[in-house]
Amino acid sequence: MKDRDLIFEKSRPGKKGYSLPELDVPQKQDLLPENLQRKNPAPLPEVAEGEVLRHYINLSQLNHSVDNGFYPLGSCTMKYNPKINEDVSRLPGFAELHPYQSEEMTQGALKLMAELEKYLCEIGGMDRVTLQPAAGAHGELAGLMLIRAYHRHRGQDHRKKIIIPDSGHGTNPASVTMCGYETVEIPSDDKGCIDLEALKEVLDDKVAGIMLTNPNTLGFYEENISEVCRLVHESGGLLYYDGANANAIMGYSRPGDMGFDILHFNLHKTFGTPHGGGGPGSGPVGVKDKLVPFLPNPMIEEEDGKYFLDYDRPQSIGRVRSFFGNFGVLVKAFTYIRMLGAEGLKQVSEDAVLNANYIMEKLAKSYHLKYHRNCMHEFVLSGKKQKDEHGVTTTDIVKNLLDHGIHPPTVYFPLIVEEAMMIEPTETESKETLDEFVAVMEKIAKMAEEDPEKLKEAPYTTPVRRLDEAGAARNPILKWEPKG
Ligand SMILES: *Cc1c(COP(=O)(O)O)cnc(C)c1O
Repeated sequence: MKDRDLIFEKSRPGKKGYSLPELDVPQKQDLLPENLQRKNPAPLPEVAEGEVLRHYINLSQLNHSVDNGFYPLGSCTMKYNPKINEDVSRLPGFAELHPYQSEEMTQGALKLMAELEKYLCEIGGMDRVTLQPAAGAHGELAGLMLIRAYHRHRGQDHRKKIIIPDSGHGTNPASVTMCGYETVEIPSDDKGCIDLEALKEVLDDKVAGIMLTNPNTLGFYEENISEVCRLVHESGGLLYYDGANANAIMGYSRPGDMGFDILHFNLHKTFGTPHGGGGPGSGPVGVKDKLVPFLPNPMIEEEDGKYFLDYDRPQSIGRVRSFFGNFGVLVKAFTYIRMLGAEGLKQVSEDAVLNANYIMEKLAKSYHLKYHRNCMHEFVLSGKKQKDEHGVTTTDIVKNLLDHGIHPPTVYFPLIVEEAMMIEPTETESKETLDEFVAVMEKIAKMAEEDPEKLKEAPYTTPVRRLDEAGAARNPILKWEPKG
């Protein structure tokens, strides 16, 4: 029997989960001023150690996670993260460092960061990388600030427009607004790629740059990327590469070689740190030479085998985060890259692309595919057929997946595909898992024909059933209240 009472409801006066030795030092009641001292003990739950353990283990099992089931959440790369990354990031020499320790005492950490920077430069085709940003969106903001600094420096501060295709990730326009810029959206063509004519129409001397994901969120490689880069550069703009998900290109294609000037990576998607639980993450930003002077302070440099933090960079946009980034995540990415090596990273891309094409071809028989052509690491399936023919929505379809121990894909995004389901299997799943997923999706398509009403009630087996998602976001209940 699963015990799901909240810990406060398990409380009984006098139960204890700890044992402490007698106090053998004088009690310093006068350390705190009288008005700050508690008059009564805090109303904490009184529970035994075993109950606390069960409480937290049960809570940890209420959610689906990539460690207990398939999680094809398109664009978000929920792949298996090797546990050795965790082991290495917990080594006391890394985990117990303090950011205020001297350069002499932190040579190992500085060397790790300097080497990670080199690897990321190599993977992205960039000249330098800052490891400071703490997430993908944070990297975007930092990258846009670099674009602004670059134009300002050249007396081009009137450039305020950033072009983003309609398949772009939602964080892109949000970052543009945060940076005080203005988004100009351009449509995709009938192959799901950038419409070159539409791009030419918006290019002028007010354009600061363009933000692109390639392969884009439809899972397609932009065939005209060289031409896109040429056109944008010709008009005086810069090219920003949203590399949150680099699972399709590692070892095969480098944004720097495509013509991009700036990129960010999500170490918590591509490079071995789990995500989805709210952090910590890391969104390093790489740039070409012409943007290096503007990178955040400090940068890590090496002279005669000694590493140091360089703050003497007058054109820098300044810090974008306290200290030096989420160091533990950097250690995991370093470990991940070193464990796989160049050949291994290439194979990640190959297997990610193979797995996505495998299930796309299988599912194209029972579901609508707006763009049916080879995909990269993800593809966008549509529930349009089930909706038009049986009144079953994409929400109904994916809620049924939960009853089979599968996390729903990203849904209703990108907006240009009706009833979208954006599926990214990742390279770490076995053929058996992929086949099982296909079988479940086919079963759901069959149920949509035979018993659509049953689909509408799912999920049946999860701790909570269908939620009022908008209500939960608008009126969140964030604290426990006693029953009755
Ligand atoms: C996840 C993602 C982001 C944002 O990354 P966060 O770390 O969640 O801020 C940006 N762009 C794309 C394409 C992504 O998949």
